[in-house]
Amino acid sequence: MELIHVHGNSYYADGVLSVGVYLHPHKKTAIIIDSTNDKDGIKKVDKAVSQLGYQINTIINTHGHADHIGGNDYLQRKYDDLRIYATAFEKSFIEQPYLEPLMFTSGAAPYAQLKTKQLQAKPSIVTDVIPFEDHIRLIDGVPFHIVTTPGHSNAMINVMSPDGVMYGADALFGPAIVDKIGLLLFTDIEKTIQTLHKLKSLHESETMTAYVLYHGGVTEHMSDLIQQHIQGIQDAIAYFKNEIQIAGAIPFHQLLQQCMTHYKIPDHVAPYTFTHTVVHAYVSYLQQQAFVNLHVQNGTLILSHLE
Ligand SMILES: [Zn+2]
Repeated sequence: MELIHVHGNSYYADGVLSVGVYLHPHKKTAIIIDSTNDKDGIKKVDKAVSQLGYQINTIINTHGHADHIGGNDYLQRKYDDLRIYATAFEKSFIEQPYLEPLMFTSGAAPYAQLKTKQLQAKPSIVTDVIPFEDHIRLIDGVPFHIVTTPGHSNAMINVMSPDGVMYGADALFGPAIVDKIGLLLFTDIEKTIQTLHKLKSLHESETMTAYVLYHGGVTEHMSDLIQQHIQGIQDAIAYFKNEIQIAGAIPFHQLLQQCMTHYKIPDHVAPYTFTHTVVHAYVSYLQQQAFVNLHVQNGTLILSHLE
């Protein structure tokens, strides 16, 4: 694995997952942003950093999903004084990774199909809690911009290095994912829309010199990508509104079924549970918008259109 140079001391790992790497300008230490999905992934990043004569001493976790925290445990065991930064909400998921599959089974014991390393990382301890607000935080003496980007996960952050390189968590997905998946994993639609508009103005402000997609590396087409995300959400809102409006009243499970077909989501347990969560996110959004009313009838959750 190689480290790809972006600007100044800011790099990212040339892997399936673009782990952010910041080489300290005055010390031989490195700060990484997220840690791949497992020991094998992070070992390659660790080796690439070591080969340049640096040692990882800090992880900043953008959020607590397994593919962002999977290498934490390995590094925490290897380096005694390793620091791990995360916001308080995401800290819960990092320290108790069982919460992620649990979330997809409504808080019940997760199905076997969800007990995979893609969904449940090994636990690690967050040493430093980052307040969930936009601010500059000194990390190993380096001023990083912490930018809140909720929507995909509740208290997710993007991290911008002093070189203006924004490490983008899952606020934006790479073109390969956007082209393939019509209904992206966003759990709060209102917050996602706000986050996308925030990224747009940050992009236009020119304090940002590059944007590194965790799933896709540096993007040269950030405006287009943001627009694609916004359009995808608008299309989904229009789709759900239309289905509810045509029916007048529709059982939740029927809307979910139609949505699975519409978005060509594979008939497997894991994608079904993700879609279940995403449909809840859109219904919740439409309830906030006073578009839909929820009630239970004959043991079924019914969504009815509010005139
Ligand atoms: Zn994620």
